[in-house]
Amino acid sequence: MNWDIVNATLVSAAKIKQDTSFSVRDGIFANTDKASVGKSKQEFPIIDLMGYPVFPGLINCHDHLLGSYWPRVGDRRPYLNWLEWDNDLKASPVYAERQQIESSDLYQLGAYRHILCGITSVQDHIPHFVRDLFAKNLPIKLLDQYAMAHSVTSYALPWGEGIKPEHALAVEKDIPFITHCSEGFDRETIDSVATLQKNGAISRQTVLIHGIALSDSDIELLANAGSNVVWCPVSNLFMFGKTAPVKKLLEAGVNVCLGTDSPMSGSISIFEELQVARNYYQTAYSEDLDPSVFLEMLTTRAARAMRIEDSRGAITDGNAADFFVLQPQFDDLYESFMQMKYADIKLVVIDGKPVFGDYEYSDLFDALSVKYDRVRVQGEKKLVKSGLNALIHRIRASVKFDKKLDFLPVEPDEN
Ligand SMILES: [Zn+2]
Repeated sequence: MNWDIVNATLVSAAKIKQDTSFSVRDGIFANTDKASVGKSKQEFPIIDLMGYPVFPGLINCHDHLLGSYWPRVGDRRPYLNWLEWDNDLKASPVYAERQQIESSDLYQLGAYRHILCGITSVQDHIPHFVRDLFAKNLPIKLLDQYAMAHSVTSYALPWGEGIKPEHALAVEKDIPFITHCSEGFDRETIDSVATLQKNGAISRQTVLIHGIALSDSDIELLANAGSNVVWCPVSNLFMFGKTAPVKKLLEAGVNVCLGTDSPMSGSISIFEELQVARNYYQTAYSEDLDPSVFLEMLTTRAARAMRIEDSRGAITDGNAADFFVLQPQFDDLYESFMQMKYADIKLVVIDGKPVFGDYEYSDLFDALSVKYDRVRVQGEKKLVKSGLNALIHRIRASVKFDKKLDFLPVEPDEN
C-alpha cells in the first residue's frame, strides 16, 4: 500500500531537513530526496505533518523478550556476574508469577513496550530455535540474521554451536556475531575479550553486549577490528553498579550502540535508557555527550552493528519505511528526542504501516487496513495495532490480579 507524507522535518544524527516530503511504496521509502511529492495529484493518501519532525525507526540492539516482565529482580547487588543474578531471578516470586504467562504473550509484551517508544526493530538475544517460535505476528520487527553465543565463560549457557563456528558463520554471511561479554568482575569475565581473540572471534561482525570489564588493551583490539559494543547502562548500573567505559570506547572509534536489556534488570523504556545514559556520561566524565550521538546509537550505529545499514537506520530511498513522528517539547529537536515521553510519540510506522499513533491518524490506519485498539497510555488517548487490549486481559487472567507493568503504562479504552 502506498501513501505520501508532506510538510515533514526529517531528523537524522547528521542533519535536520525542513519542508520535506517523502513517499511510502510497498513498505519502502521513496522520493526522500525530493522537495515535494504528491501535492498536485492525489493518487495516494497524503498525510500532512505540518512541520512535525520525523525520525528513523529506532533499533534496540539488546533485549530478551521472554524477560518482558516486571519488577526488576536483585536483592544481593552488586553481583559478581550474570549467573549470580540469574540464580536470584529464578528463585524470586516475580519469576514464579511470570511463569504463569504464555511465552508468546511475553514476546507480545516486549514488542508492544518498544513500539510505544518509537522502536521499530529489536535484537532478541536468544537462540534461533526459540526466537522462531514467537517471531511471527509481532507488532515489531525482530532481527533475524545473526550468529551468537550466550557469553564467553565456562559457565555460559549452551546457546549456538560454539564461539568459533558461530563467528565463522557470521563472517561468511556478513551477519552479526552477538554475545554477552565482560559483564561482571570474575577472572573469566575479565578475560572474555582475550578468549574471543584466541578463538579468532574479534571482527567487524563481532557485537559485544555490556563490556563493563573492558580494559584499555581490549578497547584497542575492538577498535582495530571495527567491532561493536552494545551499551546497556540501566541494566549494568542496577546489577553491577558499574557500566562500560563508554567515553574511551567512543574516542577509540568502537561502534557503540544502545540496548534496553529486559525490564527484569534493565530499563522500562528507551526513554529511561537515554536519560540514564546521558546522566551517567555527565556524572562520570563531567561533560555532555552530544545528543545526536545517542540518536546515532539507536539508528545508523545500530544498523551498522546489526549489518543492516543498507536497509534500515535512515530515511533514505530503498530502506524499509520504519519511522516515528515526534511532538517536540523544545526548539532543539535533538533535545526533544533525548527527553521524549509516551505522549510525545505521535505516530510509529513499521514497513510502511502504522502501529501506534494519535487519534488524528485513525484515517491512515483505516486507509492501510490496519486494525487498531483504542488505549490510554499514561492517560493519553492513543491507537495501537490491535491485540494489545486482549493481551492485557490475558495477562491479568493468567496471574489472577490486576497486574501493572511499568514498562507498558497502558489501559484499554474500550468505551
Ligand atoms: Zn542480556
